[in-house]
Amino acid sequence: MVKLTIECRDLGNDCDFQAKSNYVDDLIYKIAEHLYVKHGLTQLNDEIKDRIKWKIKVKNI
Ligand SMILES: [Zn+2]
Repeated sequence: MVKLTIECRDLGNDCDFQAKSNYVDDLIYKIAEHLYVKHGLTQLNDEIKDRIKWKIKVKNI
């Protein structure tokens, strides 16, 4: 089974938050929600989405 993860730290924040999901769209939703709440993100535009996608790690579990 494949698990997708993303670390907030990899997006340039000094933060230990990590999101996990089986689906890219769901993972983006989870990290975006965290960015809204904790880091003052106001708009999830394509540029930010692309940056998130580049930082997604794939783990086989
Ligand atoms: Zn964070």
